[in-house]
Amino acid sequence: MATQPNEAQAQAPVEFVMTPAPPKQNLWTQVLAQLQDVSRQLDLDPGIVRILSTAERELKVSVPVIMDDGRVEVFNGYRVQHSSARGPCKGGIRYHPNVDIDEVRALAALMTWKCAVVGLPYGGAKGGVEVDPTQLSQTELSRLTRRFTIAILPILGPKRDIPAPDVNTNAQTMAWMADTVSMVEGKSVLEIVTGKPIPLGGSLGRREATGRGVAIVTGEVLQRKNRDLSSTKVAIQGFGNVGSVAAETLHGMGCQIVAVSDISGGYYNPNGLDVPAMLDHAARHPHHLLEGYSAPGVEQIDNEQLLSAPVDVLIPAALEQQIRGDNAANVKASIIVEAANGPTTREADEILAERGIILVPDILANAGGVAVSYLEWVQDLQSFFWEESEINRTLNSIMTRSFKEVWDFAEVRGVPMRQAAVMLAVNKVADAIRTRGVFP
Ligand code: GLU
Repeated sequence: MATQPNEAQAQAPVEFVMTPAPPKQNLWTQVLAQLQDVSRQLDLDPGIVRILSTAERELKVSVPVIMDDGRVEVFNGYRVQHSSARGPCKGGIRYHPNVDIDEVRALAALMTWKCAVVGLPYGGAKGGVEVDPTQLSQTELSRLTRRFTIAILPILGPKRDIPAPDVNTNAQTMAWMADTVSMVEGKSVLEIVTGKPIPLGGSLGRREATGRGVAIVTGEVLQRKNRDLSSTKVAIQGFGNVGSVAAETLHGMGCQIVAVSDISGGYYNPNGLDVPAMLDHAARHPHHLLEGYSAPGVEQIDNEQLLSAPVDVLIPAALEQQIRGDNAANVKASIIVEAANGPTTREADEILAERGIILVPDILANAGGVAVSYLEWVQDLQSFFWEESEINRTLNSIMTRSFKEVWDFAEVRGVPMRQAAVMLAVNKVADAIRTRGVFP
């Protein structure tokens, strides 16, 4: 049994992600178009395509919050369960001003594919509140989280729908959610969310899992291309929970991290950045930002310069729709590993594929987070906790096995990895629907 109190983790401020939104295309329309494509290729039953083209359940809630100055603000909140065909619904909760029903629905469907492609016994869900969390105090965030939790509680449950952190939420947010449910139900229901602090039924290795998974698949793709880790240059957009851990892990594997960015700007050194020093800098910043970081040889760059930096691997680890029709031609990397959800538009996908750029898609590349969420849930349900080495070994085997399945399928079918991953995922979900039958 390994439980190490880690209060610091729960109390660490969220690394706020507020990248200015690019002109937005509807993510749900993109997810639907992709589903249509793969359904044709798989020759799927039209009834199953119809089922997968709508979410099973969508809840829109109003979240009134008494602000610190006594005024009442009302925020829009959502929880969408796209599919429970393969098991309880699973997916994060995000706090961001751009949250709307189409975004949440699209991200819920991506969770369905993600859990299926890496073989977790879950369906897909997502939630969010339309709010700029940088404008809220900790007490306001606590009240917002607790009221939102109560509002969506009728559709949650350890065997129904299990939320987790996502953009601008963290272990502290999950602690508030678990506490709220436990208080109103009059018993401990910590297994209702994952990504919790370690002393509250969280799992060792969960906070780092998404970034570690990204590093594992990056290592796999480099190996397939006979690339030496030490001569590989990497650019990472985003230095929050995912980007910073991916940077740290890849740096530890011997890669040269030459560019990273967060909302404070981009930092570039063609000879390699001092990643430990940058992690240290961000850890000391009140919002965990790189703001104010400088070192000899480090140049300030903007977001577009980061995306077009002369590197071998580009890792978008911030928000969706960063690589688009208007900038995909500028990408110099030969490999893209999608740490964020939906960072590449369909238009960009085509341009990248034509240019022979290998793209490891989000539903595979960033599945390490939900994979260790699954391990957390299993540990909570059995009330028996594992060593971190055990967690990391299992994460490693889930990621490498899933990578191999997608890579091999893409080779055999002669399709890009995203198409291969979505085809494998949709096929598994379709199988579950077919076997269960349509109730009644
Ligand atoms: N929000 C993360 C994702 O998009 C994790 C979800 C989870 O652990 O349930 O994959």
